[in-house]
Amino acid sequence: MSSIYDFSYQQLEDLLVVNGFKKYNAKQIFSWLYRKRVDSFDQMTDLSSKLRQYLNDNYQIGALQILKLQVSKDSTRKYLFSLSDGSAIESVLMHYDYGDCICVTSQVGCNMGCKFCASGLLKKQRDLTSGEMVQQVLSVQKDVDQYGIRVSHIVVMGTGEPFDNYDNVMNFLRTVNHDLGLAIGARHITISTCGLVKGIYRFADEQTQFNLAISLHAPNDTLRSSIMPVNKAYPLEQLMDSLKYYCSKNNRRLSFEYILLNGVNDTDQCVQQLVELTKPFDVYVNLIPYNNVDENGFVSTDYKTAMALYSKLSSKNVRCTLRQKHGDDIDAACGQLRSKYQKEKEKQHE
Ligand code: SAH
Repeated sequence: MSSIYDFSYQQLEDLLVVNGFKKYNAKQIFSWLYRKRVDSFDQMTDLSSKLRQYLNDNYQIGALQILKLQVSKDSTRKYLFSLSDGSAIESVLMHYDYGDCICVTSQVGCNMGCKFCASGLLKKQRDLTSGEMVQQVLSVQKDVDQYGIRVSHIVVMGTGEPFDNYDNVMNFLRTVNHDLGLAIGARHITISTCGLVKGIYRFADEQTQFNLAISLHAPNDTLRSSIMPVNKAYPLEQLMDSLKYYCSKNNRRLSFEYILLNGVNDTDQCVQQLVELTKPFDVYVNLIPYNNVDENGFVSTDYKTAMALYSKLSSKNVRCTLRQKHGDDIDAACGQLRSKYQKEKEKQHE
């Protein structure tokens, strides 16, 4: 059975009209789903019994099942959800001065194969549907309703490559962004890509108000190809060309993510190359302390070196931030909770 959360507002209106119901029913349903956040169609008391019956017969509704919830000392909440086919996915809620931000998963596993990332330890099994991404936000929102917290920001930075699941991700964002639903502002939503150039061109042409972040992590082709296989298909020159195109079509903020890997991408030469790369752009560089992943041997740059790097970039007029770590005590690196869970499950089956 398909999910009611798969429908954007527009799609829901169309569906209702085609099936002989009224356009305005979409407004009522969105309000029940995303404002009152009910778990069954029977609770939608202002709908006709015929419409409720139609929805019951054809669509699935309800929060995702929480397999595990870890809450860290800094109040980061990490959820392991179970999907209807038994797949497990993660979502994380982080608290900032400016609001509460959810990190959403876009695929079950990931095929991009970045060497430093725990998500890639498990290959992609499938794309998430739009509804499954909507449900992550809604399920987390319902969980924190008890504390009066509103999920105000979204980053599509969990497991998966959003531009490898382009249509579903865009549909998801339209749904959560809609005024009559969760109404999370487009300027509070960021999509992060490892650099699928075709997706960047497509996204540029849509001229949305969503923010774009690029996982750069290395400022030259040799190094980038060695830690991010995607760079072999789309080397830096092609990536930078697509970003120039994006910037020519959009006036939204662009950011580069740069995880700090000790002795790998934090050398003086790398800093110099990074400065050169950023020159054509009005870009924000997020320096990100690396969350150690047991399996792969990379180690984060220490705090002192990270601060020095930050200062060097700033002195060259590169706008940057050194991101604070969240949820260190709770497997917060992308895909860590899930890969641990998967391993435990395999052990049980041995
Ligand atoms: N595929 C997309 C989104 C998922 S990864 C992308 O590549 O942008 C989200 C971000 O987390 C990326 O910048 C990724 O490189 C980073 N990341 C992955 N593993 C990490 C780790 N162990 N510590 C810190 N950041 C990590």
